Amino acid sequence: MSVRVRYAPSPTGFQHIGGIRTALFNYFFARSAGGSFILRVEDTDRERSAPEALKDLYSTLQWLGVDWDEGPGKGGDFGPYIQSERRSIYTERAEELIASGSAYRCFCGPERLDALRAEQSAAKAAVIGYDRHCRSLSPSEADSRAAAGEPHVIRLKVPTEGKTPFSDILMGSTGRKNRDISPDPVLIKTDGFPTYHLANVVDDHMMGITHIMRAQEWIPSAPLHILIYRSFGWSPPLYCHLPMVMGTDGRKLSKRHGSTALREFRDDGYLPEALINFIALLGWHYDASREFFTSADLCRLFTLEKISKAPAVFDYRKLEWFNGHYIRGKTPDSLKAELLALLSARGLIENPPSNREKEIFQGAFPIIRERLKRLGDVVPMLRFLFADPGTGDIAEAIPKSMDARGAAAALREGIRLLESAPPPPAAGEGKGEGEAAEEAAGEAQAEHSWEAALEAEFRREAENRGWKIGAMLQPLRLAITASRVSPPLFPSIRLLGLEESLRRARRLNEALELN
Ligand code: GLU
Ligand code: ZN
Repeated sequence: MSVRVRYAPSPTGFQHIGGIRTALFNYFFARSAGGSFILRVEDTDRERSAPEALKDLYSTLQWLGVDWDEGPGKGGDFGPYIQSERRSIYTERAEELIASGSAYRCFCGPERLDALRAEQSAAKAAVIGYDRHCRSLSPSEADSRAAAGEPHVIRLKVPTEGKTPFSDILMGSTGRKNRDISPDPVLIKTDGFPTYHLANVVDDHMMGITHIMRAQEWIPSAPLHILIYRSFGWSPPLYCHLPMVMGTDGRKLSKRHGSTALREFRDDGYLPEALINFIALLGWHYDASREFFTSADLCRLFTLEKISKAPAVFDYRKLEWFNGHYIRGKTPDSLKAELLALLSARGLIENPPSNREKEIFQGAFPIIRERLKRLGDVVPMLRFLFADPGTGDIAEAIPKSMDARGAAAALREGIRLLESAPPPPAAGEGKGEGEAAEEAAGEAQAEHSWEAALEAEFRREAENRGWKIGAMLQPLRLAITASRVSPPLFPSIRLLGLEESLRRARRLNEALELN
């Protein structure tokens, strides 16, 4: 029997790490087993389903390169794949259960149910929930009330005795006493829409799903689902509930830890390759030594046996590290194109970039390339080159070991050194892609020695004055970039040019002296 698995999100919010982990595990499992990956939209909760969430679902999967074999936009033999378009299927199936005596109509309105709940909680009843009031109505009475248009729901007849066994590939076998399963859950709501439980079971069966891989949060629902399968006389698929995803503090991953929506990572300049690699390792491994996997690798290597039971830890720093790895693996041309597009999108440069802007960027590229953890880092790193950042927070110009006057003195000294520095070597202006590698290497050499000579001057001066070099450079750094995440100072001065660097330094100096 060939593997058929599905990702079945409810479009109530943006796709987040947990959901995408489920999607990827199903996708890679389907691919490695030569099976099918199905996308099914579980939108039967009309109040919570939102069109933006649906758009986000499609665009996130597309961005990650996860393509489904059957599902919205693709079709397939078992469609439609959007539950709200399958309503008649669920009603028919629920009617079948009524006919076979496994379900019944309940006419209790909200007033009765509210009163019941209030009564139960006042009496501190052991079981809070429906009292099976309508379970004893005769089918003919129920049918004629329904035919007369009386609003009602359809409930499952949960056995009051016995136990429902449940086994999971990962978690092993357990079971639940039927009397601990919620008394007679609703299958079809008053508005005619199915509940999640009914629609989920009916679709997994009708779509020929062989394995259900989903978040552990769904384990409590599994015995009920098995009961529904049994009521139909169907055998349930195999279950494999995936390990929890925690933050590094051992608590369930949530917004408290940082971004959790995929679109946020995307906007910050994480690469799909890095996210896929990192998320695949949230609860799965290949062997003890290998960490790098492309999507194509995972499509070959993924197996259920290597999914672990233990909770997975989402470490943002590890993700950054993966991202840095994949950024550096990009060809310079494609990386440059993405960074330029990002700078344009953030409004730092024109769209499309002017030649002058491209040239400035080209000069800065070798310096920032190694430092990028996210593509988005390019924005704070290079802002100082494309816009005058102003003096920034003057307090940051003052090193711990100095007061404002000391900082002004250090800055004045820096200004003096810049004034007497030779002009930096001209960057490879106007030279195109065809530029000889040798020439480029020679240029890099010249740039480097200009920076090194200037730095040596600063070090010598700092030593003469008894200043720590870091302290001496702090006000100058603030003057030039007004940022903590800019590239190193001397290359920054070279990129900005001596004249503009001096103007910014003098401006800060004035501000410090007035301070
Ligand atoms: N619609 C459910 C969810 O959003 C699907 C659960 C399942 O995979 O069975 O998580
Ligand atoms: Zn009732």
